[in-house]
Amino acid sequence: MSKLINPQETIRIIQKNDFKFQKRFGQNFLIDEGVLLNIITSSEITKSDCVLEIGPGIGTMTQALAEAAGHVIAVEIDANLIPILNETLKDYTNVTIIHSDVLKLDLNDIINTYNDGKPIKVVANLPYYITTPIIMGLFESNAPLYSITVMVQKEVADRMQAVPGTKDYGALSLAVQYYSNPEIVQLVPPNCFIPRPNVGSAVIRLTRHSVPPVNVSDDKWLFKIIKSAFGQRRKTLLNSLSSGAGIPKDATLEVLHKMDLSETIRGEALSLMEFATLSDNLISFNINN
Ligand code: SAM
Repeated sequence: MSKLINPQETIRIIQKNDFKFQKRFGQNFLIDEGVLLNIITSSEITKSDCVLEIGPGIGTMTQALAEAAGHVIAVEIDANLIPILNETLKDYTNVTIIHSDVLKLDLNDIINTYNDGKPIKVVANLPYYITTPIIMGLFESNAPLYSITVMVQKEVADRMQAVPGTKDYGALSLAVQYYSNPEIVQLVPPNCFIPRPNVGSAVIRLTRHSVPPVNVSDDKWLFKIIKSAFGQRRKTLLNSLSSGAGIPKDATLEVLHKMDLSETIRGEALSLMEFATLSDNLISFNINN
C-alpha cells in the first residue's frame, strides 16, 4: 500500500471509496508530510511503545505510527472509514482497528488488554468538536499515559498553555496543567488538511506529570471550585463560588483574607497553587466528602 500522506493519494482513496466527509465527526484529513513527521518525532515513539490513535480517518497517520511504534490501537467512530482502514493498513501487522466512539471506551480496559496495563502514548489529529471532553476523559480516567501529542485548534492550544491573568486562562488551562506539562510543538495552517478547517491549528504535546504539581485532599473538589470560579467570568470569585458551588460568601471571605487575596478578586487571577489552597480550605462545603 502506498503512503497516504499527500493530497493526490488522499483524494484517490476518497474517490475510489466514494467517501463522503461528515462535518459532525470533525473530519479534516492531514495531507502535509512535514507536519506528520514532526508529530511522530515530537511524540518520541519507539518500537517499545503502544500508541492509541484517536480518529485515524483513512489511516494516514496510522501508517507512520505503525512504522515507528510497537503496536497501534486506532479508534474510529465512522463506520464508513472501517473498510477503508482495513485496506490502507492491511500491510501492517501491528495495528488494531477499533470501531467505537472514543468517549465510550474504557481506556483502562484497552490498556490492560493490549499493553499489559503499562503506560501508553496518545497521538491524534483530534476531531475539534470534542477536543476538551477527549483530553479531560483521558486524564480523568487515571489510565497509565506517558504523553498526549495532538493536533487541536490553535485557540485551544493557547488556552492549554495560558498563565494567570491572561485572556486565554481558564478551567482548561488549570486542568491540563494539573495533569501535564503542555508545550506547543508547531502551528499548522488550514492548507495542510482536506477539507480545510476554518481555523488555524497547532500540535501540542502534553507530558503527564508523575505527581501533580499541587497536593490537594480531593482533586474532584478542586475541579468543582475551578469550574465554578470560571462559570461566570465577569463575577468575583466570592459570587461565583456562592452560585456555582453553594459556598457561603462569609466562608470564602474568611479564606481570601487568610490567603491575603482581595475580596473582589476574580478566578482568572488565581494560580493553580492558590486554587489548591482555596479548595482545601473550603473542603467542609464538599457535600460528596
Ligand atoms: N487522523 C486522520 C488524519 O489525520 O488525517 C483524521 C483526523 S480527523 C481531524 C478526526 C477523525 O476522528 C475522523 O476520522 C473522525 O471520523 C474521527 N472521530 C470523530 N469523533 C470521534 C469519536 N468520538 N471517536 C472516535 N473517532 C472520532
